[in-house]
Amino acid sequence: MKTEQIILKEAILNNNCPECYAKGSITLAFRQKRLRSRLLTIVKPAIEESMHCSKCESSIFPGQWTKDIELVYKYHKKTIHPKPASMHFSGLSYFIFFLLTAITVIIMYWDTLSPYLKS
Ligand SMILES: [Zn+2]
Repeated sequence: MKTEQIILKEAILNNNCPECYAKGSITLAFRQKRLRSRLLTIVKPAIEESMHCSKCESSIFPGQWTKDIELVYKYHKKTIHPKPASMHFSGLSYFIFFLLTAITVIIMYWDTLSPYLKS
């Protein structure tokens, strides 16, 4: 299964980085995971959050947040619209299901069907 990230929101914060004190270098991102295979697509309900400083290249974890960062984080969290958790079957899986059903029906009714198929 292939894992994809759905980016719900990415915002550059105007706060100072708690590591390097640079301003406007923190990116806050909210993501959701989507697992894709040939047969189905699953959207996971969990929302992954990350905060990264592009200046010092470090991840900023909740323990390092200042009061201001926390307020901005809460604001952005309210504005995201998560995708509902879902599971969708692909066209290929419906085709396989149809094929297996057809084979099962043919096997079950072979005795009834075979005289008609021979003539
Ligand atoms: Zn930094």
